[in-house]
Amino acid sequence: MRYTGALSKMKTNLADTVGYYLEIGDDFVFMNELIGKELHLRYQGQITCHCGDTVSAVFRMNFCKNCFFTKPEAGDSILRPELSQAHLDKEDRDLAWEKKYQLQPHLVYLANSAGLKVGVTREQQRPTRWMDQGATAAIVLAQTENRYQAGAIEVALKEHMSDKTPWQRMVKGEDQDIDLLTEKENAMQWVPEEFKSMISDDNTITNITYPVQEYPTKAKSVNLEKVGEVQGKLVGIRAHYLLFSSGAVMNVRSHEGRHVELNF
Ligand SMILES: [Zn+2]
Repeated sequence: MRYTGALSKMKTNLADTVGYYLEIGDDFVFMNELIGKELHLRYQGQITCHCGDTVSAVFRMNFCKNCFFTKPEAGDSILRPELSQAHLDKEDRDLAWEKKYQLQPHLVYLANSAGLKVGVTREQQRPTRWMDQGATAAIVLAQTENRYQAGAIEVALKEHMSDKTPWQRMVKGEDQDIDLLTEKENAMQWVPEEFKSMISDDNTITNITYPVQEYPTKAKSVNLEKVGEVQGKLVGIRAHYLLFSSGAVMNVRSHEGRHVELNF
């Protein structure tokens, strides 16, 4: 089979094993069926930005330079929720967009993604966000009314735990045994006093299993723009990484907008 087009973030579906759908141009390819098979991805030299412009290189966060400096989707509060200001009626780039995005329920969660981490997400992104990060388990620590509050809690927690996923360990399946309920009980003390009432009494632990036949023992991240192509036997998918038996791992999300040709 042969598909061509711009790549988008894979769609995920939480089931016994996470289902992954690769969006390439106008097509969806169910990737779980390709595990154990040879596939070949080749870069075609073009990138379509979110604005629809086709460019030869992106600037940052997968945006063209103009979008990166003007779009609310690339504003400071996207990567740093504590900088959100819509609750103060203050505009960063587009107050209407920022109000819609920031003034909605958010979660501060603890996840086991090859190590304990804290994170923030919009409530509607549960459990998508956890699958996006390759977490094997997650628990909600606090439920807030807006993005700013969640960001402020996360900043306090970050003094005691990571907010990053160690991707090299994650793609090699180097998981740790972590009791998230115990970690949550412990983490409550670090939630600032003014937000303590937002601590969630939902102690559900969401467990997530990825479609991985075997984890590579070494991992080398592939940048299609640099190397042009990747081919080999797909042995698994976790977070947004395609794992190849050779140890090559390709983060589909960081290739968003890249025009590619997929053959299998
Ligand atoms: Zn753009």
